[in-house]
Amino acid sequence: RTALSQWLDGRFPAPAARAGRSRLLVLAGPTAVGKGTVAAHIRDHHPEILLSVSATTRQPRPGEVHGEHYYFVDDAEFDRLIAAGELLEHATVHNKYRYGTPKAPIEAALAEGRTVLLEIDLQGARQVRAAAPDATLVFLLPPSWDELVQRLVGRGTEDAEERARRLRTAKTELASQGEFDYRVVNDEVARAAAEVAALAR
Ligand code: 5GP
Repeated sequence: RTALSQWLDGRFPAPAARAGRSRLLVLAGPTAVGKGTVAAHIRDHHPEILLSVSATTRQPRPGEVHGEHYYFVDDAEFDRLIAAGELLEHATVHNKYRYGTPKAPIEAALAEGRTVLLEIDLQGARQVRAAAPDATLVFLLPPSWDELVQRLVGRGTEDAEERARRLRTAKTELASQGEFDYRVVNDEVARAAAEVAALAR
């Protein structure tokens, strides 16, 4: 057991073990913990699991494909999706862009008996909990606090002020893990991905 998990055990309630969880899996966790990497690994190695494609108002990064990584939409289209009730949840992330989960593909996949994985932020996870109380909520943890700081710095995509802000957010996000059904430590991507995928069985 890592020092962090012992520290967390002492402070936060362990997630309640729940029976009768659905095949709707939500993966959330603090900034820079590697949610995207774990989700991509599951998409590439577990074709039976559908990785939900979100709508977002941010611009595509180099290499990102519309319809594969995100549906890139403008603010007007995002407003329309909300008004039409086409999103299961939506949130403004890092005070910047809007992200939301299209409802229809999820309902279709669940109806076919498939497992659906959402990689979304904490605000979104809470909305899914409210809308679909039997969803399975998974919280991804860093192996240690120091490791989380290292990953955020190593990524090199944020300046010092933005990093400090995200680390403050990460602390409050870590404090929410008691709301989740399972905690998975992202010590090694393939191992963590296998653990998350196994929760769908
Ligand atoms: P990025 O812009 O780096 O791809 O994603 C930024 C953040 O948005 C990540 O923390 C990711 O989990 C979150 N995110 C991506 N899609 C959704 C979504 O559909 N809903 C919510 N609530 N958050 C999302």
